[in-house]
Amino acid sequence: MSLESLQFDNRLTEQLPADKIDENYCRSVEHAAFSYVDPTPTQSPVMIAYSTEVAALLDLEETDINSSLFTDMMTGNQILSQMTPYSLCYGGHQFGQWAGQLGDGRAINLGEISTHHHDRQALQLKGAGKTPYSRHADGLAVLRSSVREFLCSESMFHLGIPTTRALSLCLTGETVLRDKIYDGNAKHELGAITCRVSPSFLRFGSFQLPASRNDDILLKQLIEFSINNDFEHLKPQNGVFTESTYLAWFEEISERTCDLIVHWMRVGFVHGVMNTDNMSIIGETIDYGPYGWIDDFDLDWTPNTSDRDEGRYAFGRQAHISQWNIMQLANAIYPIIKQAAPLQTIINDYLINYQQKWGEMMAQKLGLIKFQGNTDLSLFQSLESLLSEVETDMTLFYRALANVSNTLNLDTHSEWLAIFTDCYYEIESLSVEYKEKFRQWLTLYIDRINKEGLTHQQRAESMNQVNPKYVLRNYIAVQAIEAAEQGDYSEIIKLQNILKSPYQEQPEYEAYAKKRPDWARHKFGCSMLSCSS
Ligand code: AMP
Ligand code: MG
Repeated sequence: MSLESLQFDNRLTEQLPADKIDENYCRSVEHAAFSYVDPTPTQSPVMIAYSTEVAALLDLEETDINSSLFTDMMTGNQILSQMTPYSLCYGGHQFGQWAGQLGDGRAINLGEISTHHHDRQALQLKGAGKTPYSRHADGLAVLRSSVREFLCSESMFHLGIPTTRALSLCLTGETVLRDKIYDGNAKHELGAITCRVSPSFLRFGSFQLPASRNDDILLKQLIEFSINNDFEHLKPQNGVFTESTYLAWFEEISERTCDLIVHWMRVGFVHGVMNTDNMSIIGETIDYGPYGWIDDFDLDWTPNTSDRDEGRYAFGRQAHISQWNIMQLANAIYPIIKQAAPLQTIINDYLINYQQKWGEMMAQKLGLIKFQGNTDLSLFQSLESLLSEVETDMTLFYRALANVSNTLNLDTHSEWLAIFTDCYYEIESLSVEYKEKFRQWLTLYIDRINKEGLTHQQRAESMNQVNPKYVLRNYIAVQAIEAAEQGDYSEIIKLQNILKSPYQEQPEYEAYAKKRPDWARHKFGCSMLSCSS
């Protein structure tokens, strides 16, 4: 497939109402799901990274990717005749407050490609210039945040977690003014554009906005569009949508969201800004902003400086917050369903289902064949409090746990400590009481695994398929960004490759599986981030 012959099948623009105005100025957009808008051409675009897997998904080959036409397309300089660039209109709750209309302020969709896999993938340029939804901002993105989005979304995919993908990362050749740490020192940074790819970029907020305006017609159109295109199995055979079709759709969104959060908890991912405009309707991880990865296990940690005091989106609050978000979606679609009770049941069941799924996930992390309800829950919860009590690296801990044999000698502390030495940030600070508590936990754990009948090797293998060895630790991303800002993109490419096999031992890249070094403990970008991107 060559670039020019890409099949664009722009169902969204064909099936949903467009904004009647097509000039590009900021405004309130009503009775429309999107506005047509062209990307702003960029001065001297250069592609610095791309994903061959995502290209293959779109039936593109390496020669296409390496053409100047591709770079031009990925930076908004070339619009193919079949493309119908547009930005989506949506609203959202930001940090618990209804914010009204937000929309794609710096994202411009090029259109949807229908692939030979018989699916559809929308291509979206992030940082491609102002749109009717840019409000007071510039519509641009900097290299720093674009590298983070590019690397993390691909890494999530290889971890087996639903996510938007990233096709390409380009420099625009222009600079962007940003106050990186909100200290009044704005600086010029390199501008960049990431091309994101997903079957759907609709968010919870896409449904909330028409609901807030009592626009039931648009709300219904959006729901049916979503079902027809991304939940096809729910489409009524006779073509007549009923309340139960809408409810089944909501229930599935709720399930997918729950599954997503369980995955995040499994790998130690903290999204950082779980506003309802950042919640994908198809249950993907979307909008990589001030996200972070857990180094030392801490349920109260959030990377987002704007959320430091409240910790609304902290690691351990992601399940509750996602339920709160699901509740906002329920409120939004209520006028179409008109029955509170079944919506309420789904909301109430959310945390019950979460607890069950979380338990099953933890059982896998610990190498247990089957999650056995309450007795296992107390084993998992006591482990989490031990991990929280002293600074223990989450990723290293679970890999080390796989090295605990079924016959580990716990008579003294020396054998088990040898297994976990690398996981502690300050091994000298482990108290005698702590060691004792840990030994007791290991005794329970070994009893539990011995009831399962797996050999140590079998258990270790299954654990190492769910407990990653390589994650995009915040300090590692910072190093790749700092090199890229100096024109060296090799670290991005290297990381991209390492993170393709996150569960596999890669002895030559052992350095990328180390705990956060001391210099990174309080460094901006490693321990905290702002929304400035
Ligand atoms: P976020 O929470 O980062 O996803 O962004 C919230 C809203 O602000 C969304 O509507 C974004 O499109 C918009 N936004 C963020 N950064 C910019 C920017 N530089 N220019 C225009 N809009 C932006
Ligand atoms: Mg967003």
